[in-house]
Amino acid sequence: MERTASYECPQCGEQILMFVDPGNGDEQRLIEDCQVCCKANEITVTYDRREKRYIAHAVAIDL
Ligand SMILES: [Zn+2]
Repeated sequence: MERTASYECPQCGEQILMFVDPGNGDEQRLIEDCQVCCKANEITVTYDRREKRYIAHAVAIDL
């Protein structure tokens, strides 16, 4: 099983690779600081059963 997912940072546009803990379920929501611009994003991770991989989507958090 693929345990990584990538998303585009909404604040700097960089493609970010993240690791997913399968123990947290098929649908996860977490806060991560972008590795490139260090701004906080809310990441929604869902497991695509058909493609057998995690899909991540990031939304900027306004602080
Ligand atoms: Zn960024």
